[in-house]
Amino acid sequence: MNSTTHWKSSEPPACLECMTEEGLTHSSREGAPLCARCADEYYVECSECRGLIAEDDAPQSDGLPYCIECLKRLADPEGEIPDEEQVAALVREYIQLDVQSKAVEAKLEDIKDKLKRVAAGRPREGNAVLLGEGDAMAKCGFSERTSYDSDRLLALEAEFGEVLIDTLFERKITFKANKKSLDVFLADDDPQFAAARDAIREAADSKTTLTLTLVANRAPKPNKKGQKKA
Ligand SMILES: [Zn+2]
Ligand SMILES: [Zn+2]
Repeated sequence: MNSTTHWKSSEPPACLECMTEEGLTHSSREGAPLCARCADEYYVECSECRGLIAEDDAPQSDGLPYCIECLKRLADPEGEIPDEEQVAALVREYIQLDVQSKAVEAKLEDIKDKLKRVAAGRPREGNAVLLGEGDAMAKCGFSERTSYDSDRLLALEAEFGEVLIDTLFERKITFKANKKSLDVFLADDDPQFAAARDAIREAADSKTTLTLTLVANRAPKPNKKGQKKA
């Protein structure tokens, strides 16, 4: 780095800020010598790597100072791939938190059920019942969602006409792929359907969802077949 060479050539070493040659007990994150007074007055520690950075131009995140490198790394955690040991630690932490969150979720559901039961038996204001008091209030809302059987409505349409149905309902058409035949169709190279294949590919909107499932710790079962002794 060119920006850091200026003090290396200076003989003897001097404080980067005040140029004193005595009491150079500190050094900046980049390794430049600093006297204790200047380090204390003009420098702060990066909240991540603990290196000394000039307070004036230290970038901040959530009110804490960081060096530019650490700030970059924190802003893009995916930029760094954890090693095996870190992966193992992450999985361990995940399992631990998963257990804790399940317990919390179960408790939340339990409380919610109790409160819903209470709310169901109380008079509603608008569509809601307020429970609790002061700054600890919960609102229990009642909403109704009705779905309509499309076959019955189509039968009604046949009897009373499209106009009536279109006035009362919004029509939604959805397509779900028959995966097997669609895959075969798309993999085929019959020129007659080349345009159709392209059109289908263009109409498709694929999303890959990653799921993380914990693998249950399988303790060896003592009474497996074939292990029994005669
Ligand atoms: Zn100094
Ligand atoms: Zn840093």
